Amino acid sequence: MLRQYELVDKVLAYDPVADEALINRAYVYATKMHGNQLRHSGDPYFSHPIEVAGILTDLRLDAATIITGLLHDTIEDTEATPEDIASLFGGEIAGLVDGVTKLSQLEWDSEDAKQAENFRKFLLAMSNDIRVLLVKLADRLHNMRTLHHVPKEAKRRRIAQETLDIYAPLAGRMGMHEFREELEDLSFQVINVEARQAIEVRLEDFRSESGDVIERIRSQILSLFEGTDLDIEVRGRQKRPYSIWRKMQSRSASLEQLSDIFAFRVLVADEADCYRALGVLHRRWPSVPGRFKDYISTPKNNGYRSIHTTIVGPEQKRVEIQIRTQNMHDVAEYGIAAHWIYKNPDAQKSDDAYVDTFGWLRQLVEMLEHGSSAEEFLEHSKLQLFSDQVFCFTPKGMLINLPRGATALDFAYAVHTKVGDTCVGCKINGRHLPLRTPLANGDEVEIVRSKAQRPVPIWEGYVVTGKARSAIRRALRQEQLEEFTLLGRQMVRSIFEAAEKDAADGIVERALGSLGYADLDELFGAVGEGLLSAHEILEHVYPASKKGKPRKKAKVRSVDDADPLNAKPLVRLRGVERGHAIRFAKNTFPLPGDRIVGIITPGEGVIVYPISSPKLEAFDGETDRWVDVAWEVPGADAETFTSRLSIRASNEVGALGSISTLIADYDGNINNMTLAQRDVDFYDMEVDVDVRDLKHATRIINALKGLSVVNAISRV
Ligand code: MN
Repeated sequence: MLRQYELVDKVLAYDPVADEALINRAYVYATKMHGNQLRHSGDPYFSHPIEVAGILTDLRLDAATIITGLLHDTIEDTEATPEDIASLFGGEIAGLVDGVTKLSQLEWDSEDAKQAENFRKFLLAMSNDIRVLLVKLADRLHNMRTLHHVPKEAKRRRIAQETLDIYAPLAGRMGMHEFREELEDLSFQVINVEARQAIEVRLEDFRSESGDVIERIRSQILSLFEGTDLDIEVRGRQKRPYSIWRKMQSRSASLEQLSDIFAFRVLVADEADCYRALGVLHRRWPSVPGRFKDYISTPKNNGYRSIHTTIVGPEQKRVEIQIRTQNMHDVAEYGIAAHWIYKNPDAQKSDDAYVDTFGWLRQLVEMLEHGSSAEEFLEHSKLQLFSDQVFCFTPKGMLINLPRGATALDFAYAVHTKVGDTCVGCKINGRHLPLRTPLANGDEVEIVRSKAQRPVPIWEGYVVTGKARSAIRRALRQEQLEEFTLLGRQMVRSIFEAAEKDAADGIVERALGSLGYADLDELFGAVGEGLLSAHEILEHVYPASKKGKPRKKAKVRSVDDADPLNAKPLVRLRGVERGHAIRFAKNTFPLPGDRIVGIITPGEGVIVYPISSPKLEAFDGETDRWVDVAWEVPGADAETFTSRLSIRASNEVGALGSISTLIADYDGNINNMTLAQRDVDFYDMEVDVDVRDLKHATRIINALKGLSVVNAISRV
């Protein structure tokens, strides 16, 4: 365990102006707060935050980050509160500790590999300060280094798997390859003991056969540069068992390829020297085609720069070589953490290319320092930090990732189309909110469902995701087709009955082939949609009926004159406004009780008109299209219909008030009102009132006629 003065010295070595007193205070505070808590290893608990702080000094991070490392478990595991931390160490550190605490509370327990990528993105999106993630990664690295002390194997495996799924790729995403490799290899030791041992054994064999290959090749490379004016350093290393294993898995190769086991780095002074060194190497040893990559002229997205080449080198063995400057090397190893190294002006190198490439890193630091919002930070950073997405949870903790602006309804469809189709409401973080509510990062969304629910057209305006929109459209279309089919079936039956013919399915089916329909549903659907006439079917099934008497127009009826002995009405109207196959003609407001008639309209189904509508004249010559419709007698669930009233009222004080009071007294609900014309003496208006039926509307109209301020009134 690092002693207090050792830790302080490590920080001062790269940051001479660091707040020494504050680091000391945090060290003492952490040891005091963790008191005699113990780790599985038997060490005092406080050794853990101190080691985490130590790892962070290896990354040469600023004092605030080092102190956050020391304090990172105090809120979670001790009596300390965020307020304590703020008053003792200031707002910046309190914010960082709070951020790490929040990340630690996110349990990762999904078995689903696809979820892992989402979770990583979520961690990134939740960390509004990149230092929070760096502390979290250092925390995980130390826990992995000490994982063998955890007694339960299941727990060790869970933590190792989580590290492999979440934290190692996250470190890689941030360009911290050194971290990533160590995390991977520590996980590998737990998850696949046998495989790792097998590789160790093979490596040992290899070493005893070939001796110290690394040193031999290293000195050969070095000697190649003798007599040039290039100032180079050569480092050779054996790759970690996990990366060797992964490479073997992906290529099912054996360990014989030297280039799969060892990697060499040639470090030079500046960018120009990288290319000169490459020239020296390639003149001496042939390069392997297809293995040359120039990430200096085209850096990777995360800022990584190097030249990669594989040569057929000393002893005729393939050797992988990376050529880079020290600056490029630091960034390759420490990624995003590397920018702190160069924050200190003394450490700033005069490598212009470096400054350009990592300008974005400095920009990022500036934004952090000027306290811009998380949003802005995410937007500007060139890491893929997903500012265009939101990450939300199901109550069971499954992570759902959606584009920014997505609503609870999008969420429901993202979980499953069935969930979307049947949702009636939602709770966001425990509160009932409308389905069209836009979601924020970290929201927990619970969808309330009902089997009876079906998508309604207005939902299309509530969603932003293509998946939800197409699911809604599909469901609406499906519902429409079902209604067309139902309607068509009723129409066919009615026509057959009028001709006194049998309309059993087995008989109607005879028309399928000659009319070109696959099945009865499709046939009836075409009739309901107005694409095929029911008479045509009758003529196909019973050719003789062609020469029948000319048909009469459909009968017109209403509830009032409904005669139980009469033939059944063809179409019963209920919930017409929400239906797809039957609807009222535009700007007509018939009420149950009104005399109505339907006109079958290709592509739209049945359009219902009041019998008094002048528009009906247009259909006089097309008796085939007239459909006998009737109101369904209103049930207990008393649906309401809109009745539009045209009223001429006196222009006097209180006129509007008494009209609206009276409508309310009669249990009518005004849902809209337009003032058409205003005069000195009177004004004309149109009032839309929700009523149950014609009788209800008539009662309201009669009552309004009794008001002295009402001069004239009629239904539109
Ligand atoms: Mn910890």
